[in-house]
Amino acid sequence: MKKHNFYAGPSILSDYTIQNTADAILNFADTGLSILEISHRSKQFQAVIDEATALVKEILDIPAGFEVLWLGGGASMQFCMIPYNFLSKKASYLDTGTWASNAIKEAKLFGDVDVVASSKEAGYTFIPKGFEVTADSDYFHYTSNNTIYGTELRKDPDVPCRLIADMSSDIFSRAIDFSKYDAIYAGAQKNLAPAGVTLVIVREDALGKVERAIPTMLDYRTHIKKGSMFNTPPVLPIFSALQTLRYYKQLGGITELERRDLEKAALLYNAIDESKMFTGTVTDPADRSIMNVCFVMTPEYKELESAFIDFCTARGIVGIKGHRSVGGFRASLYNALPIQSVKVLTDAMHDFEATH
Ligand SMILES: *Cc1c(COP(=O)(O)O)cnc(C)c1O
Repeated sequence: MKKHNFYAGPSILSDYTIQNTADAILNFADTGLSILEISHRSKQFQAVIDEATALVKEILDIPAGFEVLWLGGGASMQFCMIPYNFLSKKASYLDTGTWASNAIKEAKLFGDVDVVASSKEAGYTFIPKGFEVTADSDYFHYTSNNTIYGTELRKDPDVPCRLIADMSSDIFSRAIDFSKYDAIYAGAQKNLAPAGVTLVIVREDALGKVERAIPTMLDYRTHIKKGSMFNTPPVLPIFSALQTLRYYKQLGGITELERRDLEKAALLYNAIDESKMFTGTVTDPADRSIMNVCFVMTPEYKELESAFIDFCTARGIVGIKGHRSVGGFRASLYNALPIQSVKVLTDAMHDFEATH
């Protein structure tokens, strides 16, 4: 049976990405070798990373002065690399969830961290508003999409200092105003590629300002100088990322991706809002994520949650169990998920409600 994959990460990839990756595992670029066993220094792989980098710049409309890097270590490694390279004295952070607070914890090792606002006490069910960021901050760090809690900040914030964002779970779902940013990073396993590579976009002029010594591997300048090949990069995830980027371009780029994402999210949120059995967990509708939709059963139906999971499993729906720290349900609607899968889910919600 066809599966409808709502996993939060690693997560669904396009058929195009999976098929081309499978082909390259058997025979990469007519080399007679697998992508798994070829040198990263081969001219065939150099062409892969060059095209992937160019497509990121094209699709996100990245201006001159920014470098695109393909690094290991996951988004979590960026929680320390960012302050290592950008925090001289003080940085401001917005605490909107587990990933944001992990980033804050690392930044505190490097200098003063001003946590401008937090929704922790409310279980991270909204994005704080009306906070103030001081102009003497080296940067303001925020998490654009809170994968676990289903909240999202879909607008580049207006603050009196430079921005740095963890966009792991919503990159390629909207246009970004790079003139406000010093860096953006995203673990690939949500909207781009299999786990193993992290996309990092840094403004070169912003580097080299901190006085501390930086270990070679943690210094962005190392990777800029060597074109992400200082050491062996994650070859297979980068190859898959290229396939996804080609697919995104063919579809029509960010405008079309965003249109599809908004349409899918509206379909599911409408089903939740119209239902008596299900309810969303995000308190301010303006904060609702279009990537990860979190919902629960209303108190009178609460004991039916596991029955609903089973009902969904029987229809080929996988990955809708909420994060262990939140419970309930979470449907991740990443770019590769077809709207048809969302319809299967909303039909299941409807049919389950009608029969219980
Ligand atoms: C998944 C996720 C992370 C962690 O990514 P790793 O690559 O596992 O380190 C960080 N931030 C956000 C927003 C995420 O969704």
